[in-house]
Amino acid sequence: MFGGTFDPVHVGHVVAASEARWALGLDRVLLVVAADPWQKRGDVVAPAADRLDLVRAAVDGIAGLEASDVEVARGGPSVTADTLEALGAPGRDLVLILGADAAAGLGTWRRAGDLPGLATLAVVERAVDGRVPDPSRGPVLGPAWTVERVAIPRLDVSSTDVRARVASGRPIHGLVPPAVAELIRTRGLYTRP
Ligand code: ATP
Ligand code: MG
Repeated sequence: MFGGTFDPVHVGHVVAASEARWALGLDRVLLVVAADPWQKRGDVVAPAADRLDLVRAAVDGIAGLEASDVEVARGGPSVTADTLEALGAPGRDLVLILGADAAAGLGTWRRAGDLPGLATLAVVERAVDGRVPDPSRGPVLGPAWTVERVAIPRLDVSSTDVRARVASGRPIHGLVPPAVAELIRTRGLYTRP
C-alpha cells in the first residue's frame, strides 16, 4: 500500500512506488487515494474522484502498479490502519510504503500503535552517499516495526508545486506523467490559485 492525497499524483510518486515494488519484490503496489486526508483538511483541492482518475492515468501501462479506490469507496476520514485491515487476507503480506517525510509524521496518525501489527514498513528515501538513513533511529519508529529501506533517486517535485504551477500558468511537463498533465488540462483542475 502506498497511500497519499495525490492532489495531483506526480513522477516522484510513480518512481517511489515502482522502486519499492522492484526492491522489495512486491506483487502489486496499490496507490491508495485518500478520501478525506483529515490532516490536510482545507488544503485538498481536487475532488477524490478526480484524484483517483489522475492516479489511474499515471499507472496505466505500468506493470504491478494499480490505483486503489478502497478509501474513496469507503468515504470518511482516511485511517491507514483501517485500510490495511480491509486489504488483509490470509497468506497476504502487507507492506506500507511511505516517503521519509510521511514516516517522520507517523506518530500523529490515528491508530498509529496498531500499524506495526498490520504491515511491514518500507521507507523510500534518497540515498546519501549511497546509504539510506536508518528510520528506526527517528523519534517515532521503535523496534516494534519491521522496517525496510528503499533508496530512490531524489526528485524534488511536490503536489503543492504542481498545483501552484498550474494556477500561475507555468508548465508541468515532466513533473507529472503526460496523461496526468492532459487530464489536469481537460478538466480544468488547479487553475485557481
Ligand atoms: P503535498 O505537496 O500536497 O504535500 P506530496 O507531493 O507530498 O503533496 P502526498 O500525496 O502528500 O504528495 O504524498 C504521498 C506519499 O508520497 C507520501 O508518503 C510522501 O512522502 C511521498 N512523496 C511525496 N513526494 C515525493 C517525492 N518527490 N519523492 C518520493 N516520495 C514522495
Ligand atoms: Mg506531502
